[in-house]
Amino acid sequence: MPTHHHVFIIGSGPAGYTAGLYAARADLHPYMAAGLQPGGQLTTTTDVENYPGFPEGVMGPEMMELFKAQATRFGLVVEHKIVERVDFSTRPFRIWEDDGAEHTADAVVVATGATAKYLGIPGEQEYLGRGVSACATCDGFFFRGKELVVVGGGDTAMEEATFLTKFATKVYLVHRRDALRASKIMQERAFANEKIEFVWNTVVSEVHGDGAAVTGVTLQDANTGDSRLLPVSGYFSAIGHKPNTDLFKGQLEMDDVGYLSVHAPSTRTSVEGVFAAGDVADPVYRQAVTAAGMGCAAAIDTERWLEAGG
Ligand code: FAD
Ligand code: NAP
Repeated sequence: MPTHHHVFIIGSGPAGYTAGLYAARADLHPYMAAGLQPGGQLTTTTDVENYPGFPEGVMGPEMMELFKAQATRFGLVVEHKIVERVDFSTRPFRIWEDDGAEHTADAVVVATGATAKYLGIPGEQEYLGRGVSACATCDGFFFRGKELVVVGGGDTAMEEATFLTKFATKVYLVHRRDALRASKIMQERAFANEKIEFVWNTVVSEVHGDGAAVTGVTLQDANTGDSRLLPVSGYFSAIGHKPNTDLFKGQLEMDDVGYLSVHAPSTRTSVEGVFAAGDVADPVYRQAVTAAGMGCAAAIDTERWLEAGG
């Protein structure tokens, strides 16, 4: 027998927890499947300095514990389960979790966020966890006294490179263009850091190793195609994230990249009764505070839709 819920929330990042908080306080008894990364992307970072209400900043994992505590205080039920399949073609909606449990729900909030992307070059997956990483917070410690490469030109690359200088003796920041996409303040911090050397108009085309660990990367000039070997002990991919929407293919409308389409300014998706919040539906801002804001909007949209007889 499936378990029935008023509101089923998929994902436990800032969007999911804020939706859970509002839905719980609206007496909708929400249920949440937290997924593989409880707390979401911020659990992989250190200082969060731009979330309002924390004048001294806050550590990402600690902030997400606070989100959870606040939402569960009002009755949000959180399970460490992964949603494997959904059927949004019938009402109530049907949802299956990784342990085989089946649920039905009157309304669903999708808040599955995004996942780190890799370049897809030779050697990258082979040396994953042995010098290749996409999470400086998780793996930086292993590179004390070593030289590293970080790829990317956005905020993630600046943050990862800056953080890694706590351990590494030198960080090469390799970017395929001659201008960064990162915010001004993050750029300035990276430029001011003497341990970071920018390598412009360049791509990493291969990761090399000795079988046990990374020993270097091949750098290729994006304009001339010339290649050279750079000996390093680590390679960090910091080129952005892919929305976690494979689960919803064929069921919810999405753009070419995979971001869920919503009827702005609401969080309504292409299926009535299914709402989307946070990075999964936001190719533009992708911040904790905007994700939380969308989570709030999704819970309010859900409540009004249910109230109207949905
Ligand atoms: P996410 O945080 O991505 O959470 C998604 C959730 O969905 C996870 O809990 C996951 O387990 C779950 N999930 C996925 N698939 C399933 C499934 N099939 N079943 C169940 N659950 C599932 N933003 C800032 O504002 N300030 C910062 O300082 C900042 N620093 C950052 C540092 C790094 C290294 C990164 C990567 C991002 C940073 N960001 C920062 C961006 C911020 O983390 C995101 O905008 C925010 O986390 C998005 O929240 P979300 O709730 O949409 O999704
Ligand atoms: P992003 O802004 O999309 O930047 C990705 C970077 O990687 C771009 O510079 C891009 O190059 C490069 N890139 C993408 N694919 C590549 C490839 N195949 N080969 C080489 N380079 C490639 O992603 P992000 O940096 O992860 O940031 C995502 C969001 O999270 C942003 O909104 C950001 O503000 C936020 N964030 C905020 C903070 C903070 O405020 N502290 C920290 C981290 C992230 P091009 O520039 O040439 O496209």
